[in-house]
Amino acid sequence: MNFLEERILKDGIVKEGNVLKVDSFLNHQMDVKLLDEIGKEFHRRFADKKVTKVLTIEASGIAIAYTVARCFDVPMVFAKKSKSVNVDGEMYTAEVESFTHKNKNQVIVSKKFLGKDDHVLIVDDFLANGCALQGLVSIAESAGATVEGIGIVIEKGFQIGGRVIRNLGYQLESLAIVDAMDAKTRTVTFREQ
Ligand code: 5GP
Repeated sequence: MNFLEERILKDGIVKEGNVLKVDSFLNHQMDVKLLDEIGKEFHRRFADKKVTKVLTIEASGIAIAYTVARCFDVPMVFAKKSKSVNVDGEMYTAEVESFTHKNKNQVIVSKKFLGKDDHVLIVDDFLANGCALQGLVSIAESAGATVEGIGIVIEKGFQIGGRVIRNLGYQLESLAIVDAMDAKTRTVTFREQ
């Protein structure tokens, strides 16, 4: 069992509706030493890739992207959730349905910060149905950038996102894959990796 799986078992809370709450160390209060470890682990797993930028989506991806970008010594960019339906041509846009809020957001990245010469590592905190990741992949593709890989802190392996993204041919590395969880018995089962 790795450092993250141990922490999920210790402090994660399984909620009804297939939601794992990790707000005591990742999503609200943040354990900065754990974040350091997460950054180092992604750096190790993608060490052979030429990464020029780390891309994520606000809000909970930002801390993850920061720690990874520190390790690669490159900038990080986060897609912003835009309220305006009409954003001008200086932005890449994608529509993303939120798993936790059940609403749709248009997300935007300024064309100033992503381009065809970029080699992008996409990261996020959770992978559920894959909408957030598909939005980020589509933004990177609109920019003509190369997606070098995708790093996820917690993948819920019983939801469809991981399969969809791997079938698209991307190197997807998840630090913990939850194969099953039960709110009543408070159990979490991890996939052997
Ligand atoms: P997806 O787009 O893959 O369906 O969902 C991923 C996004 O939803 C992540 O950016 C994450 O913020 C949020 N999310 C999905 N499942 C969970 C969960 O079980 N717990 C928490 N805290 N966030 C989740």
